[in-house]
Amino acid sequence: MGSENPQLHIIFFPFMAHGHMIPMVDMAKLFARRGVKVAIVTTPLNVPFVSRIKTRGGGAKVDIQTIKFPVEKAGLPEGCENADSLIMTSHEMLNMFFKALAMLQQPLEQLLHDYHADCLVADVFFPWATDAAAKFGIPRLVFYGTGFFSMTAEESLNRYEPHKKVLSDSEPFVMPNFPGDIKLTRMQLPDFVRQGVETDMTKVWKEAVEAGMRSYGTVVNSFYELEPAYADHYRKVLGRKAWHVGPVSACNKDAEDKAQRGKESSVDEHECLKWLNTKKPKSVVYICFGSLASFNDSQLMEIAMGLEASGQQFIWVVRKGKNVEKKDREDWVPKGFEKRMEDKGLIIKGWAPQVLILDHEAVGGFVTHCGWNSTLEGITAGVPMVTWPVFAEQFYNEKLVTQVLKVGVDVGVQRYCVELKGDSIKKEAVEKAVKRIMVGEEAEEMRRRAKSLAEMARSAVEDGGSSYSDLNSLIEELKSRCP
Ligand code: UDP
Repeated sequence: MGSENPQLHIIFFPFMAHGHMIPMVDMAKLFARRGVKVAIVTTPLNVPFVSRIKTRGGGAKVDIQTIKFPVEKAGLPEGCENADSLIMTSHEMLNMFFKALAMLQQPLEQLLHDYHADCLVADVFFPWATDAAAKFGIPRLVFYGTGFFSMTAEESLNRYEPHKKVLSDSEPFVMPNFPGDIKLTRMQLPDFVRQGVETDMTKVWKEAVEAGMRSYGTVVNSFYELEPAYADHYRKVLGRKAWHVGPVSACNKDAEDKAQRGKESSVDEHECLKWLNTKKPKSVVYICFGSLASFNDSQLMEIAMGLEASGQQFIWVVRKGKNVEKKDREDWVPKGFEKRMEDKGLIIKGWAPQVLILDHEAVGGFVTHCGWNSTLEGITAGVPMVTWPVFAEQFYNEKLVTQVLKVGVDVGVQRYCVELKGDSIKKEAVEKAVKRIMVGEEAEEMRRRAKSLAEMARSAVEDGGSSYSDLNSLIEELKSRCP
């Protein structure tokens, strides 16, 4: 580069699933707003999900580069370029999807070359990215998509295998060499961990983690004040280089930015806001289980009955899966439910403008599956949460919310759900948990704590805040490496 104030060029390469693409796009915007030249790489069918930032980047210029996804070569059906649809359907297809990912190394290297990139920020699911960056003598930063708590928890589990020292799947064990007295059970771990078996996916994950450790460092969508003990542990005890730059969702300031993350909303955002505007502050509970998890009809029925019994107003996002799409009759809700709930509840079938909803003053609680993005968005909105983990690292996030931060209550999920169809939670548990976060002294206490965390979250990304400063340090460090 040679100039006194060199402009960094960074390529962001998100894994093609909404829970990974959304935060990485937000992160790319943050870098662009600090004057970094940024390109996001994705495949043609994923372009619509990231392209909105072109016009809505808050003044930042973000380039989008595409590379062809080798669906045919990998034996995948036409149009299969996003993992979201696969995770729900078949392990075999998901394995094929990961095989296709490995074929992206060469085209990505071509882009690194053409773009004269100074740094590659690549998702953990691209293990080969560390070597790809090394070929060009540039650092690869890894994005895991989770917070310090769960990254540290996973390391504790892998290193010390406490789950092998208990006698049954339901006997709690304490996470060793891990801050706090955090307990889990074997039931809350994936089957392959519980049974100690190696699968194609465990091999991919092992490789990904190993490549992550060899990478230059980790960029984390979190803020220091949220999980200081775990951020310190990750850096000082585990010895990992990491920069916290979140909550990245907070970079979306106006309603349009907030509404345009991920997929096209299934509800008109103005209608949604109009509806929320008619409600009193903190009087609506928002229920959403992320972009992947879906429930069978009987579980949806329990949720509907629990919500009705709670007496609370709600916005409920029901994923358009085979359960709800194909039927004329809505037999996943009690008879007359939608009519009775006409004023009280809004059901969104499909994709909701989540951050727009959570940030509305009428929303006073969040029933969440504890995906990291949702967890952090709930914290940033300052709302108490009902935790309903389904799979992945969601059980760790639940512990952070309920036991460390004490801004939520668990609905009582006991088991990691391989089939991703959700545990069987009864209506009474839904009713009780929703009431606990919405009304009474306990709810007020949680709300006070949540509000204070939300203030810290917002300050963290403002000029001088911890995430703002960490992002600065990262940018300066990367610049200093430029020739
Ligand atoms: N999301 C959304 N509308 C929806 C469902 C999800 O905007 O109807 C967004 C949500 O705000 C979050 C992401 O999708 O940013 C989901 O990520 P998370 O880590 O919470 O869960 P995952 O989908 O990966 O299980």
